[in-house]
Amino acid sequence: MKITQAKITELLSEKGCEHNHQKEGKKKTACTKQAQPGAAQGGCAFDGASIALVPITDVAHLVHGPIACAGNSWGSRGSQSSGPQLYKMGFTTDVSENDVIFGGEKKLYKAIKEVSDRYNPAAVFVYSTCVTALIGDDLDAVCSAATKKFGLPVVPINSPGFVGTKNLGNRIGGEALLDYVIGTKEPEYTTPYDINLIGEYNIAGELWGVLPLFEKLGIRVLAKITGDARYNEVCTAHRAKLNIMICSKALINMGTKMQERYGIPYIEESFYGVEDMNRCLRNIADKLGCDDLKERVEKLIAEETEKLDQALEPYRQRLKGKRVVLYTGGVKSWSVISAAKDLGMQVMATSTKKSTEEDKAKIKELLGKDGIMLEKGNAAELLEVIDKTKAEMLIAGGRNQYTALKAKIPFLDINQERHHPYAGYVGMIEMARELDEALHSPIWEQVRKPAPWE
Ligand code: SF4
Repeated sequence: MKITQAKITELLSEKGCEHNHQKEGKKKTACTKQAQPGAAQGGCAFDGASIALVPITDVAHLVHGPIACAGNSWGSRGSQSSGPQLYKMGFTTDVSENDVIFGGEKKLYKAIKEVSDRYNPAAVFVYSTCVTALIGDDLDAVCSAATKKFGLPVVPINSPGFVGTKNLGNRIGGEALLDYVIGTKEPEYTTPYDINLIGEYNIAGELWGVLPLFEKLGIRVLAKITGDARYNEVCTAHRAKLNIMICSKALINMGTKMQERYGIPYIEESFYGVEDMNRCLRNIADKLGCDDLKERVEKLIAEETEKLDQALEPYRQRLKGKRVVLYTGGVKSWSVISAAKDLGMQVMATSTKKSTEEDKAKIKELLGKDGIMLEKGNAAELLEVIDKTKAEMLIAGGRNQYTALKAKIPFLDINQERHHPYAGYVGMIEMARELDEALHSPIWEQVRKPAPWE
């Protein structure tokens, strides 16, 4: 797949994405704007493509570029595997000045050979970066030659950082799966209850809290795209009956294109919080259209919520009424509000920077009329809101922990670097425990004391 201007425009104007639904009398929002200098801050397109694809665990992920591109994000994602660990190995061609002058294609070809000889991967995914795209290395040609010569799939991911943001990179990753992987193998058998999970990356192993629920219901997860996935299962994803989009905006192009190509409908769901988990299971049963399954879902929800209520009771008492500010993006910007409300906490403010109009409507409904929606959400604005709302805790991505420290309030990491699984019913207990431990840690009493010299 060549990454041309037309391809970029197509991905940016993805019709499944709410940002591209033009409102009457209003301009279209962010997606189709050309990348501005600084657009890659917080993650470039290469970073986005690797976030979306690296969780495929038995694939060797080879970065064709200077070593810094691979080193930049290597090992920083909490995506877990129940088997192969190959995805965690950092492979790079380590392009140098000489390669910039003479071209890096031969070096790349040799690197693919070395990786396939030494590690016997299910496939090799090759990522282009700014430098190798600028010097004009033909990734597609090298990958195609290597596929023929070495007899294993070598997939080009044309994701140079300069084409745009992390979100665009996610979609480029999805596009590579659509073009080179999905539909290349048939599953051993199919059932009427085969689904794919798209945009779930098994951060801190949270998928393992949800998969047993599907098993109990007799729903088969044919392909996980891409958390704890194996290459071969992704190849068979075209035979599923339904796609469940979890972090829907990241890989929305996969949902829309699989609907067009294979007639697989998709629904957008969240695994965070009791209400959302219940709704997700009900919607799946509804879409698969089986009365038996609907009954099983209701039975399971009744059992799980009863168990959960008992387990959450002590936490609910300790967390009741605690004021929190939430700063995250996409589906989490509203689903975590719903999870916090389940625990009796008050969400005073949340970010809407990366939220779609649909997300914003849900946020408004959940926050009520006094809730604050943060459009910018930089550190200064966050501190101001924490002060204004007398928030007792900040729930956000890792880099905001220092803002929380500055405000002398506890912090919970909710983004992809987190170390605890929060999805599903069991994840809810884990989240309650983490919130409780952070809020009631004795350290805060000491931190808030005036310094001895004051
Ligand atoms: S791909 Fe480009 S923007 Fe991304 S890390 Fe490499 S040099 Fe930086």
